[in-house]
Amino acid sequence: NSRPLQGKVALVTGASSGIGEATAIALAGAGAAVAIGARRKDRLDALATKLRDDGARVLQLDLDVTDEQACTAAVARTREELGGLDVLVNNAGVMLLGTIVGADPEDWRRMIDTNVLGVLYMTHAAIEGMVEQGSGDVVNMSSVAGRTARKGAGVYNASKWAVNAFSESLRQEVTGRGVRISLVEPGAVATELTDHITQPEAKRASQEMAAGMTRLQAEDIARAVLYVVSQPGHVAVNEVLVRPTDQE
Ligand code: NDP
Repeated sequence: NSRPLQGKVALVTGASSGIGEATAIALAGAGAAVAIGARRKDRLDALATKLRDDGARVLQLDLDVTDEQACTAAVARTREELGGLDVLVNNAGVMLLGTIVGADPEDWRRMIDTNVLGVLYMTHAAIEGMVEQGSGDVVNMSSVAGRTARKGAGVYNASKWAVNAFSESLRQEVTGRGVRISLVEPGAVATELTDHITQPEAKRASQEMAAGMTRLQAEDIARAVLYVVSQPGHVAVNEVLVRPTDQE
């Protein structure tokens, strides 16, 4: 079956670049109608045009996941305009690496608000309807950093550990009600993620790390998401950890 998601509706947060964009393309390619959310309208415009040209049904959402009302509205609009919500991919995130000593707490607020509260708000908005319909997938984009803490990544680690703990707790809560909660945990992927790091030393270190290996492409992670959500209903892929072959 080349279109396993035919008739399904997916919502992808952080779809304006990187993994989210590649995931929206992969899910649409598998037959899903896709709602694409992020803050950069120009980038979403371009993606929406591409997806429509390829024959997909698309809903473009002006979405800041740190805004609870915007999250609620995004889920409601998806259900109204695309006719349901079967797959939520909580992908939006920021990685503002740096030491804890001397950090700017504004970086911490951005990471916790986006990576943690964003996932909570979106999931809260979507989960009740999924439980009522007795099916659905919530895929949370965590990281290798959600499993292994390292110096220089403390608050990013904390944000992704929070995602993992929340996901496992919710998985147990909805077990037996047809809803699957999954974690995808990438290693280094070549995206815009490191562009936003504010501590110069941390930015340099992450660029050096990237230069020393062949990183994953966003499409490599999109395939993992597609694998998770196209399993038969009785198969729950709880967790997928994908590193570049070169990454320690
Ligand atoms: P990008 O920077 O390319 O993409 C991040 C996406 O998140 C953008 O679409 C951005 O859109 C969106 N975003 C950021 N803040 C918000 C917000 N407040 N509201 C809505 N959307 C937001 O990086 P990646 O594709 O690499 O990152 C995607 C996810 O993958 C993140 O959760 C990241 O932690 C995770 N990850 C990435 C790894 C990597 O090496 N690249 C490794 C492990 C995990 P916009 O700015 O337009 O709002």
